[in-house]
Amino acid sequence: MTKIGLEIHCQLTKLESKLFCSCKADYREFEPNTNICPVCMGIPGSLPLLNKSAVEKATLIAMALDCNTPAKIAFFRKNYFYPDLPKNFQITQLNVYGNTSIGWEGKISVGDKKIRIRRIQLEEDPGRLIYEGATEKTKLTLVDYNRAGTPLVEIVTEPDFETPHQVREFLNILSDLLENLNVSDPGLEGAMRADANVSIEGGSKVEIKNIGSFHDLEKAVHFEITRQQSLTERKIEIVQETRHWDDGRKITVSARTKEEEAEYRYHLEADIPWVRINDNTRNQLQTHMPESISSKKERYVSKYGITPQVADILSSDRYFSELFENAKNETNAKDIANMITTDIMGLLDTREKRETSKLNAEHLSDLIKSIKSNKITRASAKSALDEIVKNGTPLQQIITDLDLGHVSDEGELSDIISQVLNEEIKAVEEAEQNPEIVNFLVGKVMQKTRGKADPELTLSLLKKHLDID
Ligand SMILES: [Zn+2]
Repeated sequence: MTKIGLEIHCQLTKLESKLFCSCKADYREFEPNTNICPVCMGIPGSLPLLNKSAVEKATLIAMALDCNTPAKIAFFRKNYFYPDLPKNFQITQLNVYGNTSIGWEGKISVGDKKIRIRRIQLEEDPGRLIYEGATEKTKLTLVDYNRAGTPLVEIVTEPDFETPHQVREFLNILSDLLENLNVSDPGLEGAMRADANVSIEGGSKVEIKNIGSFHDLEKAVHFEITRQQSLTERKIEIVQETRHWDDGRKITVSARTKEEEAEYRYHLEADIPWVRINDNTRNQLQTHMPESISSKKERYVSKYGITPQVADILSSDRYFSELFENAKNETNAKDIANMITTDIMGLLDTREKRETSKLNAEHLSDLIKSIKSNKITRASAKSALDEIVKNGTPLQQIITDLDLGHVSDEGELSDIISQVLNEEIKAVEEAEQNPEIVNFLVGKVMQKTRGKADPELTLSLLKKHLDID
């Protein structure tokens, strides 16, 4: 049987500062090596001070993943030399003196399957190596320590996955969950990374590292299963090793034989005392925990009569569910939900577009109100949306400026219909035999009024003009 396990690294991007110093947790905007201090650079004599919010946010994740949480947490030094690690050790967690990591033995459902979470630990991210050109050919490697010390949560699963597809589904669910908890922004470059370990029946475990995206992770796992199967068929032994994902060639390549845990010379980080997490803290976190995605979905369906498909899409996206919550009331919820999923999600389909969008909840409830009271048509609402997203102009002003007001005056509409009927003589002739043609004519009237004609009135007037029912 194929067994796949994951180690997911997730940056707590919503924090202000790094894990043990006051440098910024969000290092992305800085010039190289400017978001650093003696603590995150490991200068002798400097002392780490644990970020309380990081412990709280990491504990929230543990709770949301149904993990046990400890009464006390401890930190350890993991010693290894690599240029991106300024201290030559990483401060992380290890469950050797009892369970002292942020959480353990949790679970998460992926469809009907339960994936067990072995452990969650809080640790610091190393710096970044920047290669000139391709990794294999580079002559020059630069190091940027801005990221060193950024709070990272490592989530380790049991090897419960059997297919690459399950891996992908799990990562999507996990990333929605982390976003919903408001602890991380998984869409930011490098905010979520994963390593996978893969073994097939009778073979050793192979770890794949260095995978940049979830899409590639699925591919890497798939490649690795095929590679191992092919070795087995040819009776070649699968060696236990670490392999790197080669992004360019889309294959895994041997990196080194896997270190044993003992080689890291773990020992307790004596500069950080054990930290007690009492029931009071836990209760407070529980009380302030954002509503889960599944509970949101259930509420949307049962309270507002939104279809399960729409509720599913809406609840799993933090940005849009927040927009929905702020715009909805007892009467418009279903329309708001539909407008978000059919019109707005397409308009705001990238991070950049969301960040620059001027659309707010008030715009949205105004739009629905105007459609319902026949002030504008749905088609006009779509044009108004473009303008709102771009400039944030109030709806009433857009209706005036762009002349989007609904044409529902019978006389005015009759004139337009007469014009259309004069222009579409062939269609009018055919309409006697084929009543479906009337829909084509409605379309023509809509075109002429730039979507402003009241569709129902147009239809009934057209039928009157053509003498059909
Ligand atoms: Zn620092």
